[in-house]
Amino acid sequence: MNFTFQSKTKTFMGSKCIFNNKNEFLKLGKKALIVTGKSSGLKSGALIDVKKILSDNGIVYEIFDSIENNPSIENINDGKTIVKIFSPNFIIGIGGGSPLDAAKAIAVLATNDIEPIDLFDNVFLNKPLPVVAIPTTAGTGSEVTQYVILTRHDLKNKKSFGNEFTFPVIAFLDYNYTKSLNSELTIFTAMDAFSHSVEGYLGNRSTVICDFIALEAMKIFGECLQSLQNAVFNDVIREKLLYMSYLAGLVIIHTGTTSVHSIGYSLTYFKNIQHGQANGILLPEYLKINYEYATEKINKILVATGICSLDNFSTIIGKLLPTNVSLSKEEIELYASIAVEQRSISVNPRPLNKEDIKLILSKSLND
Ligand code: NAP
Ligand code: ZN
Repeated sequence: MNFTFQSKTKTFMGSKCIFNNKNEFLKLGKKALIVTGKSSGLKSGALIDVKKILSDNGIVYEIFDSIENNPSIENINDGKTIVKIFSPNFIIGIGGGSPLDAAKAIAVLATNDIEPIDLFDNVFLNKPLPVVAIPTTAGTGSEVTQYVILTRHDLKNKKSFGNEFTFPVIAFLDYNYTKSLNSELTIFTAMDAFSHSVEGYLGNRSTVICDFIALEAMKIFGECLQSLQNAVFNDVIREKLLYMSYLAGLVIIHTGTTSVHSIGYSLTYFKNIQHGQANGILLPEYLKINYEYATEKINKILVATGICSLDNFSTIIGKLLPTNVSLSKEEIELYASIAVEQRSISVNPRPLNKEDIKLILSKSLND
């Protein structure tokens, strides 16, 4: 048995966990830059709580609350300007995957004299500032991963970087901060976490310990499925979804993602389909096309989630993620040619060529 497993992020889970562990902030210094979205910090209640802790403990702070969804390198450059002038000791990211990824990118730029575009070289002279991550969605797992995914308008795509230094040092997981998410975003982000667990489990980089964690995440997804279908979320379900997202994050630290994410990026970039929704829409066809190559594992996914068949899964996804978007032949051609170049296509259980990707896209959106 061969595997490496590491989670570099000290993680606290539970209601009010930031108040119960406020000393963690004090250990990081006297000056903090808060990086958050336009509304998520406020709507979730996390920003008010963090501001109170910082003020009560004499930590000076500034807030950069202009992080876009799927942040672009231009957006990150604005953060670079602020961090260089303010010169904090640490960064606090509050929000969904977009602000958390942005916080990690800004932390690297704070200590290195490079341009945002150079982040993708993934080699930094100096260690980034420490990042505290407080998720307000339950989907990306970004609070514990090394990845930063940014929009590259020059490439009309999303690109990632991340290495052993870009993990947040601390994550606070409090499901109360996800209660202000509407049903749609709750479902979309849950699908992202589910997709991470499925892709991590089926991809060629899976390991015995990640499989164990991924199956647990899928089981929890199965326990939440009825609530997702009814669009009713009590505290127990909110907490389960956040835990699932965390577990799936632990998986992709080691396995990365596969073709669902590579193909989904074009749906987000060109069609403005939310990240988790894009992945969820593609998942049924991804499972079908891989079935022959990973039969035993895909059957285990069905058992773990309590879904009776892949056709049943397609029906569930059709109801959970209805979309009016359909794709022209030219769009399918373009998205497939972009996806086939992505590194993560090669870790797929079945080797996928451009024609396979075109098939996944047309069956997922046009059938
Ligand atoms: P998001 O883009 O961070 O946020 C989506 C929307 O939800 C935004 O409008 C946001 O508002 C709103 N929102 C967030 N929390 C809320 C709350 N508690 N109440 C009300 N509204 C709230 O969505 P996401 O799906 O969490 O993150 C997607 C990004 O993460 C993508 O860029 C994706 O590529 C990346 N990602 C990263 C990793 C990783 O490991 N690093 C993994 C998967 C995905 P605001 O606009 O005000 O923020
Ligand atoms: Zn994702």
